[in-house]
Amino acid sequence: TKLLDENYKLFLADSSTEKNQYVNMHYMSDLKSATNVGRVAWSGDVCLEDVYFSYPLRPDVEILNGLNLTLKCGTVTALVGPSGAGKSTIVQLLARFYEPTQGRITVAGEDIRTFDKSEWACVVSIVNQDPVLFSVSLGENIAYGLPNDNVSKNDVIKAAKAANAHDFIISLPQGYDTLVGERGGLLSGGQRQRIAIARALLKNAPILILDEATSALDAVSERLVQQALNHLMKGRTTLVIAHRLSTVQNAHQIALCSEGRIAELGTHFELLAKKGQYAALVGTQRLAFE
Ligand code: ATP
Repeated sequence: TKLLDENYKLFLADSSTEKNQYVNMHYMSDLKSATNVGRVAWSGDVCLEDVYFSYPLRPDVEILNGLNLTLKCGTVTALVGPSGAGKSTIVQLLARFYEPTQGRITVAGEDIRTFDKSEWACVVSIVNQDPVLFSVSLGENIAYGLPNDNVSKNDVIKAAKAANAHDFIISLPQGYDTLVGERGGLLSGGQRQRIAIARALLKNAPILILDEATSALDAVSERLVQQALNHLMKGRTTLVIAHRLSTVQNAHQIALCSEGRIAELGTHFELLAKKGQYAALVGTQRLAFE
């Protein structure tokens, strides 16, 4: 509870009244889930310790190769690197879709394998560049898959507001009851992303994994998504597969993944000054930086 209090203060330090109300509202349920789930998750660094990994179908090919990386509690780490370097693989291990073949991943020193899978699902939120929406209403999509099934409509609206999704939702004739077409076909890319961000805000997990969209949104949509992401990242231990220059510039640290290891680690300017692989990636625009 004490640890959660620290996190709560962090939220309050930053926030608009709206956000405060949102956090206040969730505080009690947070306390509940913290005792059930967050033994260490709100307080500890996430460490990948000497991680090796091969996919089961290609056991001979080492994808991660003794990788070490620490995600400091409550900070943002931007993960960059050439295509095929292993970035998505790292995400899949953090999500526990797979387990390391050697080495371990820990939170506050505890191996994440000591959490059962359903506990872990409460600890980590993943927001992909192409979020899955379900063929139910927009409101139900925001509350989808939450461990706590007594989410009120009010909770959903607060999360949608914080994710910049409320205004477009209420502009639709059926509002929150609007049914989402197959794979969210009714909505633009930016709108789908904001629904996914609202879902993650409502879930309120301490560890966040973002796979930033590569495809450009229009400027207005981009700004709305970015603001929503800033809300979501605040105070959470975040790993973002980064494609935007603004994301890497604002990150607390950038980890450059190459051939299954972290080859360079530092801030944007530190890594540029190093004139190594990161500087080369930025220089040759091989990152989809705008
Ligand atoms: P990108 O920037 O292109 O998304 P990445 O850095 O995320 O690349 P990964 O997707 O982690 O790279 O892939 C690393 C390597 O693992 C690649 O060689 C890829 O072909 C291989 N790989 C990915 N998924 C699987 C899988 N399910 N089975 C076997 N090999 C895989």
